[in-house]
Amino acid sequence: MNEENYQPETLAVRAGTVRSQFGEHSEAMFLTSSFVFESAAQAAARFIGEQPGNIYSRFTNPSVTMFEERLAALEGAEQCIATASGMAAILACVMGVLKAGDHIVASVSLFGSTVNLFNNVIRKFGVETTYVSATDVAEWQAAVRPDTRLFFLETPSNPLTEISDIAAIAFVAKTCGALLAVDNCFCTPILQRPIELGADIVIHSATKYLDGQGRVLGGAVLGSKKHLEGVYGFLRTAGPTMSAFNAWIFLKGMETLKLRMDAHSAGALELAKWLEAQPNVARVFYPGLPSHPQHELAMRQQKAGGGIVSFEVAGGKEAAWRVIDATRMLSITANLGDTRTTICHSASTTHARISPEARAAAGITDGLIRISVGLEAVVDIENDLARGLND
Ligand SMILES: *Cc1c(COP(=O)(O)O)cnc(C)c1O
Repeated sequence: MNEENYQPETLAVRAGTVRSQFGEHSEAMFLTSSFVFESAAQAAARFIGEQPGNIYSRFTNPSVTMFEERLAALEGAEQCIATASGMAAILACVMGVLKAGDHIVASVSLFGSTVNLFNNVIRKFGVETTYVSATDVAEWQAAVRPDTRLFFLETPSNPLTEISDIAAIAFVAKTCGALLAVDNCFCTPILQRPIELGADIVIHSATKYLDGQGRVLGGAVLGSKKHLEGVYGFLRTAGPTMSAFNAWIFLKGMETLKLRMDAHSAGALELAKWLEAQPNVARVFYPGLPSHPQHELAMRQQKAGGGIVSFEVAGGKEAAWRVIDATRMLSITANLGDTRTTICHSASTTHARISPEARAAAGITDGLIRISVGLEAVVDIENDLARGLND
């Protein structure tokens, strides 16, 4: 199909589909580690890249290729490379585009494992990272060194939903000769398309909204062929590639992506408004609320606020744990992007390993609760939260 002419909901259902000789309507799952050749000559031509085609599923697999083409169409990217998880995507990105002696400027508000990867893994190989404010563009400019090659951010951030101005930071990156990578996990291409805003690379944890039903792990790196050449080379050699089974799950999950993102966003906005009206809630963090400090930027950059709402209860950790423990329906888990609403206490789970001082500096207080709004009726979520809030 000519993908440029279709709307996102159409691409989510149809882009990338290729039929085998059997004419199946639903995408086939190609559970095969390797592929056979017609002759020794064909094998040789495939191996040296003279003839396109599959060789081995660590390199390419038809189910995985369908996933890659669908996500590339949705993000408006020239190429997509699927990975075994979101973290494998971030690893492949840095291994593919950086070398020893290069420098990263990164948002201080990043997913915990990303910070761990930058500080404890790639640092050993001579790549240093400087962390700057997610929201203050001047800090990005000021942190640039002659060896800066990569800018890395995530917007909205977890758990405070801070918004980074992708177009403004992309402009700084461009003037410094660095690439900008955006982790688009929270918005998905349905709500935000970073490449259109000037980003060079988009990262996904497909584990979250792309599957949307909490079943499997996966990830992706997207961008131009030129920027992704090293990323593909690293993955093909090092091996953290996506399995055909997981690609098939994601293909099915993505068919409902537009419907789900619209519903998650509408539910989260309704819940955020309700939370703002609760006497025991001190503050609500949601980009779709006019009270959000970057509401205007968020509404310019995103199609809707997304499914993540955080709020601070009066009374610190004790009060926050009381709200969580009083729920009967919500799932107490750190995962997000699921059809089921999840709830977690950031300070003692996802951000527990950071020092209390660093947590306080980041604004992650002991009373903070993060909700990933699922597809249940909002009134049922409210009633589940009200029990502990009004205690
Ligand atoms: C979950 C997550 C990741 C890591 O993805 P995995 O699939 O768990 O490896 C990266 N970035 C963000 C924003 C995430 O939420």
